[in-house]
Amino acid sequence: MVAAPVGVLALQGDVREHVAVLSGLGVEVVAVRTEQQLAAVAGLVIPGGESTTIARLLETSGMRTLLSERLRDGLPVLGTCAGLILLSRSIVDGRDDQWSFATIDVDVRRNGFGRQIASFETTVDVDGVGEVPGVFIRAPKIESWSESVTVLATHDHGTGPTPVLVRQGAAWGCSFHPELTDSSAIHELFLATI
Ligand code: GLN
Repeated sequence: MVAAPVGVLALQGDVREHVAVLSGLGVEVVAVRTEQQLAAVAGLVIPGGESTTIARLLETSGMRTLLSERLRDGLPVLGTCAGLILLSRSIVDGRDDQWSFATIDVDVRRNGFGRQIASFETTVDVDGVGEVPGVFIRAPKIESWSESVTVLATHDHGTGPTPVLVRQGAAWGCSFHPELTDSSAIHELFLATI
């Protein structure tokens, strides 16, 4: 039984798609747009989209401080693509003023697998799960990480394998877009930890 409700940060990006996957799994979902909603969730998905835009909207909506506190207190969180960038400890090729929550000890390079034109689909082998489809769209590349990070899947884009699904405590980071495929395996993995 998953603690409820599970939130999807609904400022920009693939909000509807994540809500649809979670609802399809029978979970009570809330699209989080306010501090009150954020305060009430038992877990949170930060979707893909544009990390600079989501960061700016976190500030204008007043949610940055509360989300930072909730993450520090161990709120279960799944950050996909732009969401992973927001959870990372540092960003290479970010905007000069780009900040992140530093929830997961990974250093990511924005658009590290190439720009929009280099977006691709592949199969990702996830520890304990097996093969899942991986849609990479201007995806962040994890270039370094600390020992406290568990790597659950890697992808080799020609320069050697790099992590594409990681976990550190209650925080999960995924370079690709699990909400854009028929597989709900990544969401199920996350939900099992809420
Ligand atoms: N490259 C985008 C960013 O920096 C992320 C792309 C995505 O979420 N599909 O925010």
